[in-house]
Amino acid sequence: MGTLSGKTAIISGGSDGIGRAIAERLASDGADVVICARNQDKLDATVAAIKDAGGSASCVCLDVSDANAYAELVNQVAKDKGIDILVNNAPHVGMGMIADTGLDDFQQNFKVNMDAPYMGTRAAMSHMTDEGGSIINISSINGERAMPGMSGYSASKAALIHFTRAASMEGARSGIRVNAVTPGPIMTPGTEAWFQMDPDAGAAIANANPMGRIGTPEEVANVVAFLASDEASYVTGASIPVDGGKANELHVPG
Ligand code: NAP
Repeated sequence: MGTLSGKTAIISGGSDGIGRAIAERLASDGADVVICARNQDKLDATVAAIKDAGGSASCVCLDVSDANAYAELVNQVAKDKGIDILVNNAPHVGMGMIADTGLDDFQQNFKVNMDAPYMGTRAAMSHMTDEGGSIINISSINGERAMPGMSGYSASKAALIHFTRAASMEGARSGIRVNAVTPGPIMTPGTEAWFQMDPDAGAAIANANPMGRIGTPEEVANVVAFLASDEASYVTGASIPVDGGKANELHVPG
């Protein structure tokens, strides 16, 4: 019996990167996982890998920038199997300086990184009132710290952290815990593609981290598995960094 046996978990963006590691970890802990993303082939490959490892998984092809469609998925899964765990993970990583981008670019970050988690949370909470549940929002170190060229992404991830706190207050009396994780640099297909274009960037980011390295998707999944489990039964409204200490660093030049 795993720690999550008998539980159903939905993971948005669960076909790749951190979301895939979360799906694999929750499934290995016994959860029946439902993943959604836009590319059917990647979804099928992840479901097959989880099943090959002895887990239970299914998938739905869905773009969460349609937040109503995401809420409908949560409602449907809740009706079919129940819902115990929701991981809002699928990202939009908008890049560009404020002067060079427009309102559509800015709002796309909020559609994917905030509207979808809001609608998914709203749907999940409406089904979790009897049994309780765990909702986990994957935010970012960018939601805590600023850098040039990522204003929309950073602002939407900061909003997600405070939405997490607000939702935790509303869920607390029903046993619905709502927490966030704020990863620092993690090696995923997205970051790998960036480092292939700019090989010096990967080494520079690793060297600039207090631990001297980039994190792994599994290190984020470990924290999500804890938050999803009863081990975290008195933890709600938290945002837990998984960043090698980067967000706490006071950088003194020289
Ligand atoms: P990733 O490797 O790019 O994977 C993203 C996943 O989300 C894929 O399964 C992708 O599949 C899916 N996805 C993307 N847009 C979607 C959409 N509109 N609708 C549905 N699914 C969508 O990303 P990641 O690096 O693992 O990031 C996961 C989370 O960690 C994100 O919330 C991100 O902001 C956060 N994070 C990551 C890092 C890092 O260094 N990697 C650092 C801080 C925070 P499809 O393309 O097939 O849709």
